Amino acid sequence: MNTLFPNSLRREASIMTGARRGTAVVLGASIAGLFSAYVLSRVHERVVLVDRDEVLGTESPRRGVPQGHHVHGLLANGQLMAEELMPGLTEDMLAAGVPMGDLGGQLRWYFNGRRLAPVRTGLVVVGGDRAVLESHVRSRVERLPNTEFLQGTDVVSPVHDPGASRVTGVRVQARDGGPERVLSADLVVDATGRGSRAPVWLESMGYGRVPEERVKIGLAYTTRRFRLRSDPFGGDVSVNPVATPAHPRGAFLTTLGEDRCGVSLTGVLGETPPADLEGFLDYTRSLPVPDVHEAIRDAEPLGEAATFRFPASVRRRYERMRRLPSGLLVVGDAACTFNPVYGQGMTMAALQARVLRDHLRDGARITPAAFFRATARALDPAWSIAVGGDLAFPGVQGRRTPMVRFVNAYLDRLRHAAHGDARLSEAFLRVIGLVDPPQRLLAPASALRVLRTRTASDEDRNEPSRSGTAPTG
Ligand SMILES: Cc1cc2nc3c(=O)[nH]c(=O)nc-3n(C[C@H](O)[C@H](O)[C@H](O)COP(=O)(O)OP(=O)(O)OC[C@H]3O[C@@H](n4cnc5c(N)ncnc54)[C@H](O)[C@@H]3O)c2cc1C
Repeated sequence: MNTLFPNSLRREASIMTGARRGTAVVLGASIAGLFSAYVLSRVHERVVLVDRDEVLGTESPRRGVPQGHHVHGLLANGQLMAEELMPGLTEDMLAAGVPMGDLGGQLRWYFNGRRLAPVRTGLVVVGGDRAVLESHVRSRVERLPNTEFLQGTDVVSPVHDPGASRVTGVRVQARDGGPERVLSADLVVDATGRGSRAPVWLESMGYGRVPEERVKIGLAYTTRRFRLRSDPFGGDVSVNPVATPAHPRGAFLTTLGEDRCGVSLTGVLGETPPADLEGFLDYTRSLPVPDVHEAIRDAEPLGEAATFRFPASVRRRYERMRRLPSGLLVVGDAACTFNPVYGQGMTMAALQARVLRDHLRDGARITPAAFFRATARALDPAWSIAVGGDLAFPGVQGRRTPMVRFVNAYLDRLRHAAHGDARLSEAFLRVIGLVDPPQRLLAPASALRVLRTRTASDEDRNEPSRSGTAPTG
C-alpha cells in the first residue's frame, strides 16, 4: 500500500461523517474490484483486495486477466463515469501517453464497408494496452491509506453464518502454500471475473440456483502488435470495421502511441482469425475495407499473437433470487460478461461501482437485493445492445421477438443512413458509447432521418466504400 494521500483525497475523507463501517474485502483486484474498492474506501475503515496474481507494479498482461493481451477501449460513458469516480484520471492517463480520442471524430467506424459520417461528439474513448489502463485505475486505489492488496492469494470460499443468513468473511490461501485463513468482513464483494464461483457458493449455502442467461456467439479474438512504417491514423486513434451479418469478419486497429499499433481481428460462430502472420494478414485482406491490411502489410510484427475464445455472453440474474445472504455482492464480469466486441465490460464495472457508491451513501447496511435490482437496471441497456446485436447474426441461437427483429432491421437502415448523415452518426455513437439509451434512436428526430433514407434494395447498398459521402434521402 502506498501512503501517498493527495489533498483532494484528504478533503474527500474529511467530509465523511458518521461512524465508518468495518472491513470490506474485495475478491479480485482487476477493473471491477478496483472501482469497487475505491468507493468502499470512503465508508469502510479498511478495504482488502485479494487477488491470485501479483498485481502491484504490473503494466503487462497477467495470468488472471488473459484478455489483457487484447487492446481495450473504455467507452465514452465509461470514461465519464471513471472520471466522476476518480477525478483527474483522464488527465493522468493523457499525460502518460494513453491514447484517447473523440468517439466520432477520431475513431473511424465502418459497417458493411461504409464509414459512419465523421462527427465531433465531444465524448472521449480511452484505449490501448489493457494492463496500462488497469495500472492507472489501480494507482488511484493504492494511494488510499485504508486499502491493502493481498496478492498471490486464492479466494477459496465465503464464510457463512446460516443462522444470521450472512456472509461474515472469506477463506483465502496463499498460492505458495500454507494453511487457509479467514478474513473477517462486514462486506464481501466478488469481482473475480467471468470464472466467479458465487453461483456455486450460493447454491451450496442453501440459497438456490442463480438464474442465468446465455447468448452463444462463438467469438474468437486474435491480436497482434506492430511497429508501423507509415501512419494510417492521420491524427485519429482507431479504425474499426465492425463485424455484421453481411460481413462477419471484423477488426479493431488502434494506435498504441508513437509508431506502435494493436490489431484485433474477430471471428464469430466458430471462425478463428489465424495467429500466424501470413494467415493474419490474409484475414485483414478479407475485411470489407482495405484500411487495416494497408496499415500493417509491411509493418514490423512485435511479439506473438494472442487468441481469446469467448463462447457466450452470460448474465447472472442475482436480482431474481428469492433469498440472498447479506454481506455478499457480485460486480463486474462476475455478474455479467458481455460479448467483448461491444467494448462494454469496463464501462459496466464503473457503472456498478457508481451504483455501489449510491447504495453506501445513506449510512445503512447495504441490502444485496436492492443493490442487485439497481445494477440490473443499470446493466439493461448495454445487455440489450449486445444481445440484440448478436441476434442479428442468423446463426446465433436465441429468442428473436418481433421487437428484436424490428430494431435490428431499423439499426441496419440507420447505420446505412448514418454513412452520410453526421447527426444520425452522432446519435448512433452516443448509444453504442452507452451515453444515451437505445430508445433514443427511435425518437422522431432520428426516425424521420432514417425513414427518409433510401432502402436496403438501393443499388449501392452493399458496395464497399471508404469515404463518408454516400447520399441520404
Ligand atoms: C478479448 C477481449 C477484449 C475485450 N475488450 C474490451 C474493451 O475493449 N473494452 C471493455 O470495456 N471491455 C473489454 N473486454 C471486457 C473486459 O476485459 C472485462 O469486462 C473486464 O476486464 C472485467 O473486469 P473484472 O474486474 O470484472 O474481471 P477480470 O478483469 O476478469 O478480473 C478478475 C480478477 O479476479 C482475479 N481472480 C479470479 N479468480 C480468483 C480467485 N479464485 N482468487 C483470487 N483472485 C481471483 C483475477 O486474477 C483477476 O485479477 C474484453 C474482453 C475480452 C475477453
